[in-house]
Amino acid sequence: DTAMYRSKEVAGGSFHFYHEGMGRRTIENVKYENALYRALERDEFVLFYQPQMDYCTGEMAGVEALIRWQHPTEGLIPPNVFIPLAEQTGLIVPIGEWVLREAAGQLMKWMDAGYAPVNMAVNLSAAQFEQDDLVTVVEQVLADTGIPPRYLHLELTENQLMRDSELAINTMHRLKKLGVQIAIDDFGTGYSSLGYLQKFPVSTLKIDRSFIRDLMDDDDDRALTDTIITMADNLGMEVIAEGVETEPQADYLAARSCALMQGYFFSPPIPAKQLEKRFLKNK
Ligand code: C2E
Ligand code: MG
Ligand code: MG
Ligand code: MG
Repeated sequence: DTAMYRSKEVAGGSFHFYHEGMGRRTIENVKYENALYRALERDEFVLFYQPQMDYCTGEMAGVEALIRWQHPTEGLIPPNVFIPLAEQTGLIVPIGEWVLREAAGQLMKWMDAGYAPVNMAVNLSAAQFEQDDLVTVVEQVLADTGIPPRYLHLELTENQLMRDSELAINTMHRLKKLGVQIAIDDFGTGYSSLGYLQKFPVSTLKIDRSFIRDLMDDDDDRALTDTIITMADNLGMEVIAEGVETEPQADYLAARSCALMQGYFFSPPIPAKQLEKRFLKNK
């Protein structure tokens, strides 16, 4: 991770620009934008996969696809470094489409190789979610790759629902009709109430890792986590805890019947080949 923050050389520009006024179109910004564009053309993005475990059975229920930029000289660049600019410039739309295709294609390859299918969670950014043709793109990716739609889980953040909830509800219903599932990422960091949430056709809530981090010694975080688990249960939704790093956290969650967990306790995001060896099961 640290290589990035030292770097002043990528595309002859610097990566520290994003700390400054994000709206400014500086020369560095334009160079960096070009570098991102070229990265897409040159196929420099890669997906890592993080297991989502069923703690009760010990089986892997699914994976989350997480993008990295395999830079030819700078090494592996984490998404928090380049996703903000990609979002700001609109490049997130073609990048996001690449992610969808790559992730769905990977699942199909695993299935063709005889592995039992698992859920494939893909993050959608706001700009992507608001594209008129998102539903067509998803439909096309499903058709081109041939994966059973129910395994594709699209992750949206709570804030994305609140930006324009009528549009969001409409798009989500059209996605649901394709058979894909919708998960709310980083849940608990926004302000949605139970009443608000039930307007949306959501299948999964992902408890934000900021609540899991201090679960063992923060009463408020425990109360919030308990509430989200109950809320999901009342709404007939699944719940996944993010950022589970320790066994006591996992045990706490399991005791409250939150069996689905994702976090370093099980595995960080890893390349496809490693995931195959360590986690995938034959049919
Ligand atoms: P996210 O979707 O909430 O993904 C979870 C992040 O938490 C991942 O960081 C993951 O590596 C990290 N994480 C997982 N378990 C643990 C843990 O136990 N402890 C800690 N400290 N961290 C954990 P990553 O891969 O760096 O991704 C960061 C964010 O970048 C993602 O947050 C997501 O918002 C965004 N992102 C990643 N890939 C994509 C993508 O393909 N498209 C879009 N639009 N955004 C993406
Ligand atoms: Mg996510
Ligand atoms: Mg998250
Ligand atoms: Mg996040």
